[in-house]
Amino acid sequence: MHEIGYCAGVLEAVERRAAGRPVARIGVLVGALHRISPAAFEQSFRLVADGGVAAGAGTEVLIAPVRAACAACPAEFESTEPAPTCPDCHGTEVATEGGDELVLQWVEYTVPDGGAAAREPVGPVRAMEATVAANTGLVATSGLPAFVSTPDLLRWLPAATWCPVVVDPARWRAAAEAAGQPNDRRRPIVVHAPSQRWLKGTDRIEPMLRRLDAEGVIEYRQIVDVPHASMPAFYAGADIVLDQFLLGSYGVAACEALASGRLVMGHVDEFTRAQVLDRTGAELPVHEATVESLESELRRAAADPDAFAGERSAGPAFVERVHDGRRSASALAPFLGVRA
Ligand SMILES: [Zn+2]
Repeated sequence: MHEIGYCAGVLEAVERRAAGRPVARIGVLVGALHRISPAAFEQSFRLVADGGVAAGAGTEVLIAPVRAACAACPAEFESTEPAPTCPDCHGTEVATEGGDELVLQWVEYTVPDGGAAAREPVGPVRAMEATVAANTGLVATSGLPAFVSTPDLLRWLPAATWCPVVVDPARWRAAAEAAGQPNDRRRPIVVHAPSQRWLKGTDRIEPMLRRLDAEGVIEYRQIVDVPHASMPAFYAGADIVLDQFLLGSYGVAACEALASGRLVMGHVDEFTRAQVLDRTGAELPVHEATVESLESELRRAAADPDAFAGERSAGPAFVERVHDGRRSASALAPFLGVRA
């Protein structure tokens, strides 16, 4: 019953939140990809919660559907099957999105003297904490080796193996070379293409970017919904790419911008930078900037682009060394029983 692993994590979040109050019932949203059975979840939760504040608590599990698009026909549909088939043409080649949610939605406390139970909603941060707790619980109970795609996750899973995200360096380099080297323009073109605004800190930097644009310090281009095929040209037309400013890590988008040879700014915390240096021998060439320091860093870069030439030119070599797939193949090879 793999629900046990999820329940252990959810229970941890519930107990922390309850702070001693007896829990009557909890609501959990679980994506279909987790293959959770609500009945098995309830049974497992009773098992792990026994003896604590949530002993005997009921569970209400809502299954979040997978959004799916058929490759063979124009059908788009939702399904609670982890591997759905197309309802129109019965094709099995189906691209899916979502369905990986795991969110503690609410906690209901027991009220003495038979009063109405008080239901307390759980905010997004708490919900993410519950997801983290559930996932680490699952890793601990699965008995399988764990791989992490970004090095910041080693903080929670120190024994895991880093399997770096992979980009094709040649594709990004080619677009950048075709566009020519940027600069000796006096007003740098600054781009930001956030996949999830709230997660990347977009709302917290955008007013400042618009102000610098109006002042004539930079030219700011925010692009949403750029098809991935157009991204190499999008980065090639920029001087500075802004990545993310809240999570303290870097992912595929930063690697693509680095591979394009553009100056990348973002917040990557010291732990994550140290992991990269320790494990690869190379400094991560993402220029450090936080929500607070980004304005002064952009002003510096606009006034003196040469001061950033080192980081800019280190990008493509770094991506080739760490993110071109070879290192990821080596990380997975022992588990798969093959040679990289
Ligand atoms: Zn179809």
